[in-house]
Amino acid sequence: MLETEDTPEMRNTIASALLAATALAAPARAEVLDTMGPILSTAADAATLNTKCDSYVSAIEQRKAALEAETGAATIDGTLTRYDELTALLGAGSGEFTLYQQVMADQARRDAGASCQVRLATIASEISLSRPIYDRLKAIDAGGADEPTKWYLSRTLSGFERSGVALDVANRARVQELNEQLAELGTQFENNIANGRQVIKVRPEELTGLPADFIAAHKPGDDGLIEISTDTPDYQPVMTYAESDDLRRRLSEVYNQRAYPANDAILRQMFTLRQELATILGRPNYATLVLEDKMVDSPARVQQLLTDMAAAARPAAMRDYDKNLEVLRELRPGAERIEFWQTGWLSPKVQQKYYAYNPQEARQYFAYDNVRDGILKLTEDLFGVDIRPWDTPVWDPEVEAYEMVDGDRVIGRFYFDSHPRPGKYTHANMIPLRPGADGEPPVAALVMNLPDGGHDTGLMEHSQVTTFLHEFGHMIHGMFGGHTRWFGQSGVATEWDFVEAPSQMLENWVYDYDTLAQFAVNKDGQVIPRDLVERMNKARYFNLGLGDMTQLGYSNISLQFHQSAVPDDLGAATRQWRDQYAIVPAPDWVQFQDAFGHLNGYSAIYYTYRWSKVIADDLFTRFEREGLRNPQAAADYRRLVLEPGGTKPAAELVRDFLGRDVSLDAYRAEMAKDQ
Ligand SMILES: [Zn+2]
Repeated sequence: MLETEDTPEMRNTIASALLAATALAAPARAEVLDTMGPILSTAADAATLNTKCDSYVSAIEQRKAALEAETGAATIDGTLTRYDELTALLGAGSGEFTLYQQVMADQARRDAGASCQVRLATIASEISLSRPIYDRLKAIDAGGADEPTKWYLSRTLSGFERSGVALDVANRARVQELNEQLAELGTQFENNIANGRQVIKVRPEELTGLPADFIAAHKPGDDGLIEISTDTPDYQPVMTYAESDDLRRRLSEVYNQRAYPANDAILRQMFTLRQELATILGRPNYATLVLEDKMVDSPARVQQLLTDMAAAARPAAMRDYDKNLEVLRELRPGAERIEFWQTGWLSPKVQQKYYAYNPQEARQYFAYDNVRDGILKLTEDLFGVDIRPWDTPVWDPEVEAYEMVDGDRVIGRFYFDSHPRPGKYTHANMIPLRPGADGEPPVAALVMNLPDGGHDTGLMEHSQVTTFLHEFGHMIHGMFGGHTRWFGQSGVATEWDFVEAPSQMLENWVYDYDTLAQFAVNKDGQVIPRDLVERMNKARYFNLGLGDMTQLGYSNISLQFHQSAVPDDLGAATRQWRDQYAIVPAPDWVQFQDAFGHLNGYSAIYYTYRWSKVIADDLFTRFEREGLRNPQAAADYRRLVLEPGGTKPAAELVRDFLGRDVSLDAYRAEMAKDQ
């Protein structure tokens, strides 16, 4: 879909970035692992969850107090190790309770997950403002230390400085207040979106064009009308298949007013408080503050990136637009332009006309169980590891658990919670649960909402296979990168705007015939035809330009709200910033800002997805050249990009793998592919 943002898959990124792990002195390390304990199973009630949260909080507070009271020489083996343990606990607790909030079967336990995260965020803020801890870390002489340790210490210290640790007592107190208020506002903002479901009533004949199983599942009520909601299972098929422009326009209107106007008021406060925070910290605006530790490290550089990407994407978007318009004119003679509510509906029609590709034709080959086994097999083949079932308690009977083995060593453990359940989080994301370090394997979960043979056909769209592989890309980053000396550099703890690169790069394999032929088999045992995969590949680049221009528009919204005065009319400003890039303009009723969940978690840095895409395209050039299943390229990728985790700047990881700096050329080439 062009008009929806990427899902927030990396929920725990901040916590991960804080995380640390190390050559811990054995007793201290045992205590850390003991506090974390196992992930709670389905038998744990809300009270048990709260008790577990208490044990995290008290262990963290104890360690915080001990570190603040520490005397004597500040050392890497002592002070930094204890700081690393402290943040490891914070990260593990935060990941674990994010999981409970997303997957538990009842509201009481999901609420326990949410409230523990607020408690941990409060302590995280207090630690980031602790002058005594900062002073101890600053006193460490890292002169003789290895490079990763020096990098870790310097990133940690500058993180403290950006948090405001050097401010006077009154200002530090105000920063703590602001952090807590912002966390609270963020929760309200996301709750309003989660509860923002809207319903419209439609006449049965308006469902013309929708698949028979959709129509069968939507019976008219006593008034003869059918209810259609803004939830994805309704919204997406209607916007794609309904022939009625009027129906799509009406649904789009309520969809684009979810959480409106309630979230306008919250956003206003959020932007105002963020600006106050930036001002106290001596920065001109909040965007400047959050960008300082990123690869693209200033608002001007982000703006330049958006401009450069748009220069490549705009011509492709115009070609997409023309193809769409031509098909529209066949269907709606005399049409002068494409309307906002027509883009999703036109896309499959263009794919059919120009590329003879129909996504429904591919679906029969993507049964969930086969896809899952295929992804695990691909990982084994590429990276020379074994993946086997892991016998461990789980929080729901349908959750699957695995361990990854390299030689005779377990190097990671993970869960797949793959299918929808009532009350469960509705997007897809990877949650780091235990940071790995020095022999202690990392643990993580993929929470997704894929079809399930037990409850439906179990057949996945090709786009869902892509999502699965994308999330698994985060997972292998966490697993292979989870063996650093410090917990705080484990796995995905790189610069935030690099994190979506390994995941987006792995998406390429779902277009590879040799890979698909190993698992894409229909119920009659027939392997996906080569000719279908070829057509899929031809259709692949259509609408990329149009989609990317819209994504650049969203990136612009995210940036502008955090470097400009709060606009009088948030909706009007949002539409204007979006349409500086997006080709199909947003109508006046679009209030996208109020349901743009990333404005909470990502604030000014939604561009992360686009920048990571540039890197992913560039990393992939080596596989394109040397072969997607070339063992040397895969081994180098594992060793040079994934295994280092956050032990060095991400720009160096790219340089180590490609032998040169990251470049926009591969992105430009991709945008030129569909002619
Ligand atoms: Zn992702």
